[in-house]
Amino acid sequence: MTDMTEGSDVKIHPSVDEGVKPGREDFQGGTLRCKCTDRPVEVRITAQAAHNHVCGCTKCWKPDGAIFSMVAVVPRGAVEVVANGDKLKVVDPNTAIQRYACTGCGTHMYGRIEDKNHPFYGLDFIHTELSTDEGWAAPGFAAFVSSVIESGVSPDRMDGIRARLRDLGLEPYDALSPPLMDAIATHLAKRSGKLVA
Ligand SMILES: [Zn+2]
Ligand SMILES: [Zn+2]
Repeated sequence: MTDMTEGSDVKIHPSVDEGVKPGREDFQGGTLRCKCTDRPVEVRITAQAAHNHVCGCTKCWKPDGAIFSMVAVVPRGAVEVVANGDKLKVVDPNTAIQRYACTGCGTHMYGRIEDKNHPFYGLDFIHTELSTDEGWAAPGFAAFVSSVIESGVSPDRMDGIRARLRDLGLEPYDALSPPLMDAIATHLAKRSGKLVA
């Protein structure tokens, strides 16, 4: 049986569906803008993004119709709300990542960790597609791929989705990438004393 959703017909995310665009070495950041036509929220980022990836989890903000989000990190000191910040509200104050979303259009503008013991404390999560500036670091892998099933994707589409991700050079993982999982484990081992800090 031919599955019409296989191959390049599989839609991952609008920023990668036409192929992954490489970032620019000398890129220094840009401005993220929400989808509101009236008084859009603007967040200025004064750094290149790191660890950009597509994510299948149910918490990250996704544009309409996408089954993956695209999310990266920057140092929290490189994130500044510069316009209409009064429209921002934390989506769920009980999660480790406090996702600041626009109350007008629902777009998540940045995610921040306040727990100083969290492995990723000091990094904010951003969606570089909200910026028209060109040169942002390209996504390099796909995280939490199996979790797209939790958003309603049929399990029998998973082979096609993983094949398409590999075609795009986005190695699929069902957690974060091995370097990030290692970073988390190292952080925990140093805290528990199993590794010398
Ligand atoms: Zn908005
Ligand atoms: Zn996610």
